[in-house]
Amino acid sequence: MAKALSKRCPQCNAKFRYTGVKAHPWFPFCSERCKTIDLGGWLSNEYAIVEDLSRGHDLKDKLDLNDPDVKAALDELEGEG
Ligand SMILES: [Zn+2]
Repeated sequence: MAKALSKRCPQCNAKFRYTGVKAHPWFPFCSERCKTIDLGGWLSNEYAIVEDLSRGHDLKDKLDLNDPDVKAALDELEGEG
């Protein structure tokens, strides 16, 4: 027999009763929604980094590397000194 525990949600701070992982798969959050919000925060941070990197690649793809001015600018960006 599962014993209900009084818990507090780290996302919305609501009190809820936890009776076991089968009844409460989103534990330690009070609801699936709060778990998704928390997870979404982490994921959106990760996506922001990936987006920045891919944007850099896009920029390079669009540049005309045969243009001596573009090549000089890229060398300046990539070379340390
Ligand atoms: Zn909550």
